[in-house]
Amino acid sequence: MNFDFTEEQELLRKTARDFVDREIMPYIGEWDAKGYFNKHLIKRLAEVGFMGVCIPERYGGSGMDYNSLAIVCEELERGDTAFRTAVSVHTGLNSMTLLQWGSNLQKQKYLTPQAKGEKIGAFGLTEPGAGSDVAALQTTAKLDGDHYVLNGQKTWISLCDTADHFLIFAYTDKSKKHNGISAFIVERTYEGFSSKATKGKLGIRAGNTGEIFFDEMKVPKENLLGKEGDGFKIAMAALDNGRFTVAAGACGQIMACLEASVEYCHERKTFGKEIGKHQLVQQMIAKMEAGLQMSRLLVYRAGEMKNKGARNTRETSLAKWQACDFANKAADDAVQIHGAYGYSNEYPVERYLRNSKAPVIYEGTREIHTIMQAEYVLGYRKDKPLTHSLPPWKK
Ligand SMILES: Cc1cc2nc3c(=O)[nH]c(=O)nc-3n(C[C@H](O)[C@H](O)[C@H](O)COP(=O)(O)OP(=O)(O)OC[C@H]3O[C@@H](n4cnc5c(N)ncnc54)[C@H](O)[C@@H]3O)c2cc1C
Repeated sequence: MNFDFTEEQELLRKTARDFVDREIMPYIGEWDAKGYFNKHLIKRLAEVGFMGVCIPERYGGSGMDYNSLAIVCEELERGDTAFRTAVSVHTGLNSMTLLQWGSNLQKQKYLTPQAKGEKIGAFGLTEPGAGSDVAALQTTAKLDGDHYVLNGQKTWISLCDTADHFLIFAYTDKSKKHNGISAFIVERTYEGFSSKATKGKLGIRAGNTGEIFFDEMKVPKENLLGKEGDGFKIAMAALDNGRFTVAAGACGQIMACLEASVEYCHERKTFGKEIGKHQLVQQMIAKMEAGLQMSRLLVYRAGEMKNKGARNTRETSLAKWQACDFANKAADDAVQIHGAYGYSNEYPVERYLRNSKAPVIYEGTREIHTIMQAEYVLGYRKDKPLTHSLPPWKK
C-alpha cells in the first residue's frame, strides 16, 4: 500500500493550512467564546473547493480522491472542530450519499449546487429517543398522492439553522423495523419545516447544532432517495463516509494539541528547566505523537480502500474509534501540560478538550465502535457486499 502523498495533495495540504491560519486561527477564540457560527466561512470554504472535495467535476466538485478529503479535514480541525464538522455533514454524510444513491435528477437538482457550495446539506438521523438505536426513531412519512407527509423531530443536527437541504430518515412502514425506514431529501423552504439551535453546548461552540421539526410537511415523491425501505442501508453507507472525515479531523485535533504543547514545553520553566525536559511531560508528548501517527495510518488505509471501491465499514469504524479516542486523550494531556493556564481560554487547549468530546459521541459512540470491532473479530458481524458502488471520485 502506498502512503506517499502526490504533489497535488501536498499542495492541497498547504492551501488548507494557509486557509486555516488566515481565516480561522485569528478569530476562532472569539467565535468560540461568543458561540458564533460564521456561516460566511462556509462560502469561503466553497470558493477554495473544500465543500466538494471528492465529488466528481461533472457534478461541480473538485474531483479529488478520498485521502485528499482526509487532508482537508485534518487541516480544518487543526483550526476548529466546527468547520470540519460542517464538511463532514455537508460532504461526507449528505453529498456523497446523494452521489451514491441519488437519481440523475436528484444529482442535478441537489448534488451539483451542494458540491459547488451554493447550497448547504445536512443529515438528520438522530431523534430525542433514537441515537445509537436508529430503529427507535419516531418520525413518519406517509404517502399521499404525489407527495409524502412527514411528521416528527430530529435533534443534535449539525448545521440545523444553516443548511438548505437535509437528508431525513423516517418510517414509511414501522412494522418492517429497519427495513421500513426510508430516506428523503428535504428543503428548508418546505412548509411545516422549522429549526432551533441548541444552547449551552460543552464544545463546538463556533458551530451550529440543534433541532429540526416537521409538522405535516409535504415532500415531493421524487425526493425519496433510493427505494422505500432503503433508509437504514443509506444511513449506514453515509456513516461510512462521515466517520472517515471525523477520523481524519481527529488527526488535525492531535496536531493542534501537539503544536500548542510543544510551544508551551519550550516556554514554561519549572525547577530550573523547560518543562519539556521533564520525562513525565515527554511521555505525554510522545503519546500524542504516537496517537497521531497510528490514527493517520488507519485513516489513510481506509481512504485507500475507498479509492479502490472496497467495502471499508470495519476499517473506517476502527479509524474513527481510535483517532477520536487519541484526540480526546491528546487534548486532556495538552491541558495537563499547560497546568492552570490550560484551564483558561488564554490558551486554545481548553477549547480542544471541549471540542474533542463530541467526536467520541457522534457518528457512532466509542461503545458502538468497540462493539462493532469485537463482533467483527468474533465473527458475529459480517459485512454484506455493497448494493450500490462507492461514490466514484474520479473526474
Ligand atoms: C455536536 C454533535 C453534533 C451532532 N450532529 C449530528 C447530525 O448532524 N446528525 C445526526 O443525525 N446526529 C447528530 N448528532 C447525534 C449523534 O450522532 C448521537 O448523539 C449519537 O449517535 C449517540 O446517540 P445518543 O446521544 O442518543 O446516545 P445513546 O444512544 O442514548 O447512548 C447513551 C450511552 O449509552 C451507550 N450505549 C448505547 N447503546 C449501547 C449498547 N448497545 N452497548 C453499550 N453501550 C451503549 C452509548 O455509547 C452512550 O454512552 C450529533 C451529536 C453531537 C454531540
